[in-house]
Amino acid sequence: MLLSVKESHFFTDPRYGLEASAEINCQVHVAKGSLMAAAAAVIKRKRLKKIGFETAWLKHEEFVKLKDEMPLGVSLIPVGPVIEQQRMVKSPDEIDRIRASVRANSEAYERVLRRIRPGVREQDIAAELDFQIRMQGAEKPAFETIVAAGIRTALPHARPSARRLEANELLLIDMGATLDGYASDMTRMAFAGSPPKRIRDMYKAVLEAQSAAIQAVRPGIAASKVDAAARGVLKRYKLDKTFVHSTGHGLGLEIHEPPRLGKKEKTKLEAGMAITIEPGAYIEGVGGIRIEDTVLVTDSGCEILTPTSKEFITF
Ligand code: ZN
Ligand code: ZN
Repeated sequence: MLLSVKESHFFTDPRYGLEASAEINCQVHVAKGSLMAAAAAVIKRKRLKKIGFETAWLKHEEFVKLKDEMPLGVSLIPVGPVIEQQRMVKSPDEIDRIRASVRANSEAYERVLRRIRPGVREQDIAAELDFQIRMQGAEKPAFETIVAAGIRTALPHARPSARRLEANELLLIDMGATLDGYASDMTRMAFAGSPPKRIRDMYKAVLEAQSAAIQAVRPGIAASKVDAAARGVLKRYKLDKTFVHSTGHGLGLEIHEPPRLGKKEKTKLEAGMAITIEPGAYIEGVGGIRIEDTVLVTDSGCEILTPTSKEFITF
């Protein structure tokens, strides 16, 4: 994309020509050669002099290409997450799509959860979840579905493996859908059998931390304060040192968008932001617990969009 004050130009190759012309309401350029050369031609024709580029998105190789193609006297200026910041507060239409994504994701989870039994492999559960996400109308999972069994739950971003869920083991499922372009995100825990007291206590602590963070969500509060609410509860249970990530993140067109709900994040929440609340506790050799909902900041506080029960599931 090349944006100027007056115009928007979209560049693509012939594979996407038809789709782009049908779906995009700005000037579409179907380039036969390099997109950077096509963009440079427009920059030259329009006599643009200062071109900002998104540092988080432009690969160095493409940057070099763009630089090589630039007409004389044009400067390339690095810019931060300007677009992402514009996207933090969602429009009513975007909120509707996030709601639909959340519903599809939760429905997919319910359908698979009923059928999980000890002996099944993590990767089989993940495959079923991905299948059901699509069956519920989503285009795809919003990220690589996380399924971890037993002590592997202590890895916050475990990749599903061939390991089987055994009796008397924890199960962590972190999943999201991309529906109509918009992401959802949820983590739930289950236990194959009757959980020992240590695990039950951990679950209770994380759930309390998650509730405290949700209660803190309202317009005007700094994102760091929501993070502090979760961390404060975990500290009372001496679990704060086991909480190794931030409390949540914005989501929308991407699964991770600003604001980040971390220790140092000064961004103030605003009505219309869609965020996750997902504290966790992870103990090597024992296991990990994370509970995550997708939440909408409203004028009066927040609305939990995720309809799935947070009862500690046992089977
Ligand atoms: Zn998340
Ligand atoms: Zn998640």
